[in-house]
Amino acid sequence: MSGRRIYFNIRNKLNQILNPGLCLTCGISITSSEFICSHCVDSLELVSAPCSLCGLPNKAEGPVCPACLQHPPRWQKMIAPLVYTGSTRHIIQDLKFNEQLHHANAMLTHIQHYFKNHHVDALIPVPLHQSRLLERGYNQAEEIASNLSRLLNIPVNRSSLKRIKATEAQSGLSLNKRQKNILKAFEFTLQQPYNSVAIIDDIITTGSTMTEICKVMNKAGIKHIQVWSLARALKHD
Ligand SMILES: [Zn+2]
Ligand SMILES: [Zn+2]
Repeated sequence: MSGRRIYFNIRNKLNQILNPGLCLTCGISITSSEFICSHCVDSLELVSAPCSLCGLPNKAEGPVCPACLQHPPRWQKMIAPLVYTGSTRHIIQDLKFNEQLHHANAMLTHIQHYFKNHHVDALIPVPLHQSRLLERGYNQAEEIASNLSRLLNIPVNRSSLKRIKATEAQSGLSLNKRQKNILKAFEFTLQQPYNSVAIIDDIITTGSTMTEICKVMNKAGIKHIQVWSLARALKHD
């Protein structure tokens, strides 16, 4: 754990002690330790009838949408319960850019049931490049993976997957540019055999990052890959 990450965690814990029981979205007093009040939880938009492969709303019958039936992705399941909009977007942006590490736990407290009963051997957070990790001090995907690990009792593997290319931020890029930007950005070395893993990230936008990670995991012999994140963007930013 880096020094800055320890500092952020202590500061966040102190904040919670000094400001107990305040909803982190609307700020009203709440008596429970649920972080977000029931009104705000109800207002978090869920993806309606998500396709089990791309996580987007599926108007067709069955678990897989027509687009995925025609061109299946490299992974076997996606779980990304919330729509990346409104309060979900604010909470995730604070987690990612404003050092609010406890937001990962707060979100998962309310959506952890979506990830239960989907057993995998390990949780693998999408890594940041070393240069970005030094700049930010923490990796939000790792915060999500650590909390999921505690809630679901599945180990986190932080060492097998590495980002070997310092890429431009994906947001703001077209699908084509995202694919080029992320090409050959990852390296995967397996220290132990896994039958199945879940790759963990904060949001899924086009899936380009996940596709690139699946390529290196498939090469290492992992056949069953799930993609888990807090939220699904319904359109590109
Ligand atoms: Zn609230
Ligand atoms: Zn689909």
